[in-house]
Amino acid sequence: MEGNQKIHCTVGTCKYNEKNQNLCKLQAIQVEPTKNCDTKQADESMCSSYIYEKDKQ
Ligand code: SF4
Repeated sequence: MEGNQKIHCTVGTCKYNEKNQNLCKLQAIQVEPTKNCDTKQADESMCSSYIYEKDKQ
């Protein structure tokens, strides 16, 4: 990621989430369309870089 861009995120169950700072620890994330979702709202997109905080990978 170039410049001063940041990824703001409040998904507290993700292992990459910097809790209480509203930030993602990753330099870049992958966003993908949500399957079978055609609402024309924000829920059509999802962060596929998410990993549950208790997963070890
Ligand atoms: S990987 Fe995605 S869900 Fe996890 S903290 Fe970063 S932006 Fe949020």
